[in-house]
Amino acid sequence: MDIIEQAATLLQSGKLVAIPTETVYGLGADAKNSIAVQKIYDAKGRPNTNPLIIHIPNVGAMSDWAIDIPEDAYLLAAAFWPGPLTLILKRHPSVPLIVTAGQDTVAVRVPNHPLTLKLLKRLGSGIAAPSANRYGRISPTTPEHVLEELGNSVDFILDGGPCAVGIESTIVYLLGSKPLILREGSISGSNIQQVLGKEVIKSIEGLEIRSPGSSSSHYAPSKPLYLLEKEDLHDMLLKLIQARKTISVLSFSEKPIRPNPFVFEWITFPYDPGQYAQQLYQQLRVLDENDSECILVEMPPASEPWLGVKDRLQRASRPIK
Ligand code: AMP
Ligand code: MG
Repeated sequence: MDIIEQAATLLQSGKLVAIPTETVYGLGADAKNSIAVQKIYDAKGRPNTNPLIIHIPNVGAMSDWAIDIPEDAYLLAAAFWPGPLTLILKRHPSVPLIVTAGQDTVAVRVPNHPLTLKLLKRLGSGIAAPSANRYGRISPTTPEHVLEELGNSVDFILDGGPCAVGIESTIVYLLGSKPLILREGSISGSNIQQVLGKEVIKSIEGLEIRSPGSSSSHYAPSKPLYLLEKEDLHDMLLKLIQARKTISVLSFSEKPIRPNPFVFEWITFPYDPGQYAQQLYQQLRVLDENDSECILVEMPPASEPWLGVKDRLQRASRPIK
């Protein structure tokens, strides 16, 4: 049996399959099977109050999962699907409430990965999938990471190689008077604004939407990570060396030539938001697993293309004492 057929058969019998997407690996279940979807929450240790994204084969399938779909949804789908953009729409009554965490809204997207698209077409249905990591941890961008995170609690891993984008999709809420970005990603507010020809907003006062990707601690390594401006990073490094702490550094600069036994590992990152995002989670795992005691990360630029990686770093970081 080929791997697509194997994955499809398992999903249809209520099992969990890890799926490759261009963003991160997802932990997938048949979106119409509440018992299977419950297994996602159990495997991740994720609270039932956190809704899941439904992955669909094409824009035509959107009306199987959502109702009262606004024109903006079709415009965005035409511009960005398959791709790293999730749309929040009004839930179709046939969508199990466990998928949407009891809400009347639903998150849908068409992922851009050939294997997962093939699987979705073969299923002719939707796959509910959050990132395939334990709750609150770093999202997986390779099949090996999925295995590290979930071990035997996933029934099958569809190996699609490393993820090309590397951070989770941009999430846009389309039920308000203006499109609202709930989570930053590689598709920016300006990209969306350009397609829709209208203002895109980042917050609405008083609006309560359950969107756990927006909880302040997330995507986090187990050791402390401090996010610092370049000047402050140097001072912090000296302070930690004096305190005899072993340190890992993730910076845009090259490693200083003079070796220091306390600087355990130094990773120089590309000054390009796309390449940075692609490598981010993988390198955070490397730094989390080495023998250093903490991770210092240089703050990325404040400009719009960096908002996605900046957001993930902020959620991975701890306040500086
Ligand atoms: P993950 O793929 O692990 O980032 O989890 C799926 C993400 O989808 C969550 O973090 C939420 O931010 C988002 N999401 C899913 N459904 C909804 C919804 N109905 N309303 C708002 N956000 C949602
Ligand atoms: Mg996640």
